[in-house]
Formats: sequence, C-alpha cells, structure tokens
Amino acid sequence: MRIPFVAGNWKMNLSVDEAVAFLDDIKGKLPDPKVTETCIAASPLFLESMIKHNADSPLIIAAENCFYEDTGAYTGETSPAALNEMGVTHVIIGHSERRKYFNETDDIINKKVHAAFRNHLTPIICCDETMSRRQSADRISWVVSQVTNALKSVTSDQAKTIILAYEPSWAIGSGKTASTDEAEEGCYLIRQTIADLYSDDIANQIRVLYGGSVNDENADDIMAQTDIDGVLAGGASLKPDSFLNLANFLQ
Ligand code: PEP
Repeated sequence: MRIPFVAGNWKMNLSVDEAVAFLDDIKGKLPDPKVTETCIAASPLFLESMIKHNADSPLIIAAENCFYEDTGAYTGETSPAALNEMGVTHVIIGHSERRKYFNETDDIINKKVHAAFRNHLTPIICCDETMSRRQSADRISWVVSQVTNALKSVTSDQAKTIILAYEPSWAIGSGKTASTDEAEEGCYLIRQTIADLYSDDIANQIRVLYGGSVNDENADDIMAQTDIDGVLAGGASLKPDSFLNLANFLQ
C-alpha cells in the first residue's frame, strides 16, 4: 500500500515572511501522514526559517535542488550536506527547469541523486517530456532513458525510497494538463522501468507523482489513476487554500 504524496514546488516565488505565514495558515489542517504525506519544496533561503516554524507539523520541507559535491569551491551552489544538517529530508532533482535553463544533463542528475543518498536526503526525481518528444516516436525511450540514467549505480535498497515525478514540460506552468490517460501512461511507464531495472516488488513500493498544471479541480481525477500516487504542483502550491485542497483530496 503506497501512501499518497502531495508536494508543492514554490520555485523562485514568495518571500521568507510569506513562506512562514503560509506555514502558519496550513498548521493543523494537513492530513495525517499515515493517510497522505505532504511536502513543500522551497528556496534554500527559506529553509531554515521554515524548518523552525514547522515544528509539530507533518509537512515535509524539501529543497528544490542541491549540488553533487558535499562541500568545496563551488560558488553559489547548495550543499546537500548542509541541507541535511539543517533538517531538510527531501530534495527535488532533475526538474525540467533545471534541465532547460541550467543545462543539467542525465549525468549531472545521476551525480546529484548519489549526493542526496550520501547525505540522507530522499530524492524526488523528475522526468520530463517536451512537446516535440510527445509527438515523436522516441517518447517512450526518452522517459525510460531519463529514469535509467538518473538511477545508474543506485542500489535496490536506495531505489525503494525514491519518489519519481512524471512532469511533461509542455504541461508545466502552461495551464495545459495532461489528460488522465496521458498522465497515467507516463507514470505507468516510469513504474515499469523501475520493475525492469530492479524488481516488481520495488516498482510496487515506490511513489510516482504527476506534475504539470495540477489544480484543485483536476487533481482528484489524476490521483485516482492506478499508477499515480500523488502530485507535484507548482502554481497550485503557492496559496495555502489550494495546497490544502490538494493535500486533503482523500477527505
Ligand atoms: C512544477 O513546477 O513542477 C509544476 C508542475 O508546475 P505547475 O504545477 O505550475 O505546472
């Protein structure tokens, strides 16, 4: 039985004060984490204040990215070791905006996945799919290769703990959600790739999320799909009410 996972990705939005006010707004209104786990990924600038403010709340505080080395001369990068020390437990890796604007390759993403594990962070690994891929025959091999490359040299014990997100980049921030069939197909494909790489057992344990213009109107249908265990929401996670609507979808 996989516990649904509802995650928000704030990207480079809000301020520290707004982040803290958001946590105050949702306090006491989140589901029991045995029913649905909830998570917000935020800028590294906010994480310390958010963690302090989040005491006694089931909300998981995640980073939106980290570097693949623990420490060193890497100006401007976010250390996964420092994230762990701060109390962060999860990190998004390989978001399509990182792939597109910061030229993150599959190799970099794989190194970041290993850095996350080395530093006791659970990776939330995103796989994208552009409109051109959607219309071409290599769409399936593209998604499969992103999963396979991200998980190179990842052990079965580590693989059991990962969260994967199918996030077609044509659906991100565009208001154009994938149909439930398209979303299910992408998540099924990811789960089958895990089964091929590891085992059916591990494929049945890991959570696969859908992301791309999810909102409180389309989320229920998306989350009702067999292979979709939750959502990764950008825009819809910025307002406490809409995040709570996503988080409490089972109520
Ligand atoms: C995202 O940033 O991962 C995302 C899915 O954004 P949005 O929900 O705004 O499309």
